[in-house]
Amino acid sequence: MLENVEYVKADSFQNDPEPVSPDKPKEIQSDANLSNVEKVNVSAVQTIEDSSYWLSDCLEDAQNVILECHDEKPDDGNFADCAKFFAGKTFAVKIQNNGNASGDINLIHDMSSQPSYKIYIHDVFQGDTRDNRRMVTVIIIHQLLHAIHPLRMHDSTNMQKGINKMEHEIANRASYHDALLNLESLHQSGKIHPCNV
Ligand SMILES: [Zn+2]
Repeated sequence: MLENVEYVKADSFQNDPEPVSPDKPKEIQSDANLSNVEKVNVSAVQTIEDSSYWLSDCLEDAQNVILECHDEKPDDGNFADCAKFFAGKTFAVKIQNNGNASGDINLIHDMSSQPSYKIYIHDVFQGDTRDNRRMVTVIIIHQLLHAIHPLRMHDSTNMQKGINKMEHEIANRASYHDALLNLESLHQSGKIHPCNV
């Protein structure tokens, strides 16, 4: 991280003799003083973009898995299928502690045509690892199912499959068994709680 900061500084302050390493940790903490630490902040922004980069990979994977493995239409009759639903909405994913829930979504239950959705992933998944990518993709699948079927409950009824059952069926069909097992194990350990949307 620090090497990275130094590189950015060296690259963009050609004639600046001032910056010395001992000051850097303080600079990084003082976000408010934008003018003095502009380049350090640029580096911090790059780090955030880097982390959201793999989250958007997971979002894309989750949407593709749903398009391939989910055969029910969206609750909102304005959208003939999930492809049109995804094309007509915007989605953002970020890491955040959701009161220990694995994932969360800003679902507006009374609004049939919500234009944009924010999906939150528990910060236990913040590292870009293969296992985290697989689990985050399943969590996003779950949250996208809430968006597609805002009228559904987690548990199945006699009439309809619940969100949890749909999530498991889709993840199994797409061979995300490892992620389902890892998530189950995290739930059992109490580190995270299942979604409570
Ligand atoms: Zn849920």
